[in-house]
Amino acid sequence: MVISASNPPLTDTQKLVLMYGGTFDPIHNGHLRSALELTQVLPVMKVHLIPCQLPPHRGQPGASPQDRLAMLRLAVDPEPLLQADDRELQRPGPSWSIDTLAELRKEYGPEQPMAMVLGWDAFLGLPTWSRKERLLEMAHLIVIARPGQEKPASQELLNLLSRNEVRAGEALNSQPAGRILRLALPSAMQVSATYIRRLLAQQTSVRYLLPDAVIDYLLSQGLYCPSHDSEQE
Ligand code: ATP
Repeated sequence: MVISASNPPLTDTQKLVLMYGGTFDPIHNGHLRSALELTQVLPVMKVHLIPCQLPPHRGQPGASPQDRLAMLRLAVDPEPLLQADDRELQRPGPSWSIDTLAELRKEYGPEQPMAMVLGWDAFLGLPTWSRKERLLEMAHLIVIARPGQEKPASQELLNLLSRNEVRAGEALNSQPAGRILRLALPSAMQVSATYIRRLLAQQTSVRYLLPDAVIDYLLSQGLYCPSHDSEQE
């Protein structure tokens, strides 16, 4: 399908459903601005922002699943296309993306174009993921450039890209799954949750790196500050 000005607008069933997973420990403007800009540069029906229960590829998060979800909900509250989705927190054990994609695929049906969104750093870790060869059967991948995270891809990932990469976003709307799109979004941000946690541990302001409502919440709950961390140990 070629989309041009003369084509009729896409229906919801032709638009992309995006799965944007993460630890969101905490959610920040790098995640939020990327999610919003994806809805501005691609025909998107909905973005499911999905905090993971136990990240399979890293250590324990600093905040509880309930707090990470509460912060995500506060952050996306004003944006109709962004949805805080707690499905991985409802499942016991590690959160495998392939299981989450399978659930979404079941809900939206076999024809709905669907994509998993991940930053370049997360994409570099893909070879270690569970049942990775099935990901592209279930969805497209949208890989977002992330300033400061520019390590080269392994040969395995370069091969995957050479087999599946498309250059135009519209290609993702013409089939349900199987393509990879690399995108540099307009407001690429270097912010990371690690940096935010470090600032909070030093009791330094994090204003303008994440929404005020999230900052108010994490300060009121004493999250990520040294005394809270030692209480948890
Ligand atoms: P941490 O610093 O704790 O590792 P993080 O900031 O990388 O956290 P995650 O929750 O681990 O955040 O990331 C979830 C997803 O969002 C990943 O795919 C990651 O690549 C992507 N992401 C995180 N920060 C940004 C950013 N600033 N710009 C674009 N993508 C981002």
